[in-house]
Amino acid sequence: MPNALKLGGVADSAHPVLSVVVPLYNEEGNVAPLLERVGALTDRLAGAFDFEIVLVNDGSTDGTLAAIRGQMRRRPHIVLVNLSRNFGHQLAATAGIEIARGDAVILMDGDLQDPPELVDAFVRKWREGYDVVYAVRRSRQGESRFKVVTARAFYRIIKRLTKVAIPLDTGDFRLMSRRVVEALRRSPERHRFLRGMVSWVGFNQVAVEYDRDVRHTGKTKYPLPKMIRFAMDGITSFSDIPLRFASYFGFAVSAIAFVYALIVIAFKLFSLKPPGYTPGWASTIVAVLFLGGVQLMSLGILGEYLGRVYDEVKGRPLYLISDIERS
Ligand code: UDP
Ligand code: MG
Repeated sequence: MPNALKLGGVADSAHPVLSVVVPLYNEEGNVAPLLERVGALTDRLAGAFDFEIVLVNDGSTDGTLAAIRGQMRRRPHIVLVNLSRNFGHQLAATAGIEIARGDAVILMDGDLQDPPELVDAFVRKWREGYDVVYAVRRSRQGESRFKVVTARAFYRIIKRLTKVAIPLDTGDFRLMSRRVVEALRRSPERHRFLRGMVSWVGFNQVAVEYDRDVRHTGKTKYPLPKMIRFAMDGITSFSDIPLRFASYFGFAVSAIAFVYALIVIAFKLFSLKPPGYTPGWASTIVAVLFLGGVQLMSLGILGEYLGRVYDEVKGRPLYLISDIERS
């Protein structure tokens, strides 16, 4: 059927399938309320769409699995994907997206920070022909000032570092059409910054604003060190400017050093003493420490990229599934 896909990848079938994908890691207290609200959503849209709810259990060690199974006895259309261990948020989300069969795939967090009610607006935009509908955080409730400020700064820094139009203050909460999902499936990179990868795909993308709620229960799975890793993944996956920093800086310092050397030689030739001359070590120490610091930092930047190249060439699978259950 050449005409099976309209603009935006909306299937022509009478009942397009929507997949809701949720990665879950130790969210036992959130499973029931999440499915309650997603259930209300699927009931509301049942006339127009079929649903599947893909719950990716990312190696949870608490009662998350039991809570999901409990819900599966009462609710249809749940696809439980158990990963073989904890692979982390981005890979768990990737597993869910790859397994989802919907004409559109909606990705959301399992702690109800992303309100499922926003999906109505997502679907409306999708029906208008957009391929990606992403949720922009107008406000963030219940998150530390530190997280809000650093996140704001991060999105503005990465915007300056890359040519890919990654929207500001946007997480992974979004709807993607089938052709966007297929593009992601063909992107095998390991250190995934999904929100950037989806921007990179292109097509028609549109924003919907929302207020990010507080986490329903439990605590964040992104403590500071993990947040920094994730930020580094974002920058290294989408920019090579840091890598060039050493060479830019090297050129700049060499130019200054050259001019300075000329001045020193001139002073020597004419047996002059420069202003403020002391046979001092201060300038030497400052130069050594400064250049030493810059060199170590440049090496570190190289290391960040090299480590990721190493991970990529190993070519291990992104995640392993232990089993899939359907209700
Ligand atoms: N998550 C996951 N694997 C992990 C860490 C997190 O599947 O290793 C899930 C988590 O259960 C939640 C989502 O990813 O559904 C977002 O995590 P979290 O709410 O802790 O992040 P935050 O909102 O604090 O940035
Ligand atoms: Mg959260």
